[in-house]
Amino acid sequence: MNTHDIIQQTETFSANNYHPLPIVLARGEGIWVWDVDGKKYMDCLSAYSALNQGHRHPAIIKTLIDQAGKVTLTSRAFHNDQMGPMLKRLCEVSNMEMALPMNTGAEAVETAIKTARKWGYKVKKVAEDKAEIIICRDNFHGRTVTIVSCSTEHQYRDGFGPFTPGFKVVDFGDAAQLEKAITPNTVAFLVEPIQGEAGILMPSDGYLTHARELCTKNNVLLIVDEIQTGLGRTGKMFAYEHEKNAKPDMIVIGKALGGGVYPVSAVVSSKAVLGVFNPGDHGSTFGGNPLGAAVARTALDVIVNEKLVENSRELGTYLLNELKKIPSPHVQEIRGRGLFIGVEIKKSSGRARPFCEKLMNEGMLAKETHDQVIRLAPPLIIKKDEIDWIVSKMNKVLS
Ligand SMILES: *Cc1c(COP(=O)(O)O)cnc(C)c1O
Repeated sequence: MNTHDIIQQTETFSANNYHPLPIVLARGEGIWVWDVDGKKYMDCLSAYSALNQGHRHPAIIKTLIDQAGKVTLTSRAFHNDQMGPMLKRLCEVSNMEMALPMNTGAEAVETAIKTARKWGYKVKKVAEDKAEIIICRDNFHGRTVTIVSCSTEHQYRDGFGPFTPGFKVVDFGDAAQLEKAITPNTVAFLVEPIQGEAGILMPSDGYLTHARELCTKNNVLLIVDEIQTGLGRTGKMFAYEHEKNAKPDMIVIGKALGGGVYPVSAVVSSKAVLGVFNPGDHGSTFGGNPLGAAVARTALDVIVNEKLVENSRELGTYLLNELKKIPSPHVQEIRGRGLFIGVEIKKSSGRARPFCEKLMNEGMLAKETHDQVIRLAPPLIIKKDEIDWIVSKMNKVLS
């Protein structure tokens, strides 16, 4: 089947919940992917940062195959020999004490919400069913009913009510609003350190530090959703580390934790917080399975051993500076941290999508987010000459 036939078939049999670029990929390696006709593209989306280690990283694929030859799934009814070592590594990397493994990002966010509520009732002693969680306008935390209940995006909610109560919205980056929104029933503040889906939006310096102070003062858990920003993407292991004294009570991790091959997510926190769970309170059949756990441990090792955090920081700074030098009548703003960069297109120049289509024709895959922003987030294994290649393509399309 050719590209046209495959897309036709996909559109016939798939629910219409995505609008992909018209390209059919058949192979990937490192930062590169190939379509069914053998044309080569650079992957500058990295599956929304789930491919920080690149496509089919040899060490991760080796672990996948080795572990597939031993045992893949035990359920949590029995122990397996892979989950403990993975969670230990994850706690070391995140400087936390305890973890709860899940599969997808949304499940980990749900887990964080359940943890915060349980902690609120059992430890903070909030009255039954009164717990409140504060979230930010224009957040993205996933797609379950409870999570879209905290979304402020009309389309994410339209047709999916009734919604889960117990959420309160504040503007992202506004610590004064956060302070006002906190009540004795507030159990948590859930925030992305940089809002990715909203268009790579960065709060002003000091916001997270201020949020940390407010949470500490009011006995509220600070939960950061680092599913997209974590594991090196922004030039730190976790994006909250860009600020001083902003260590959260809980970090939600996903995407790149699975090394681009297998869905693995987790919540990491302290014993005081994750200690609220008792057997039977919460769970997942596949969560913590030995195949995913083995993959995740290697995925973490690759990030640390290959210094991907440092590479993201250095090349991200370089890329941002080079992009800013491009003389373009179309660019409103270029912003980002590490290899997490948003190029905002002026409204008068139309939407970002046609620019992404032009980039695709140039052999560079990037996906617009929220109409006006081209998101650049290549795998963190990228090298300097390949960054220069991105700059040349961006130059061609933006000038
Ligand atoms: C992708 C993402 C999620 C949801 O993860 P899924 O694996 O798609 O469920 C949640 N939060 C953030 C910040 C994300 O980028």
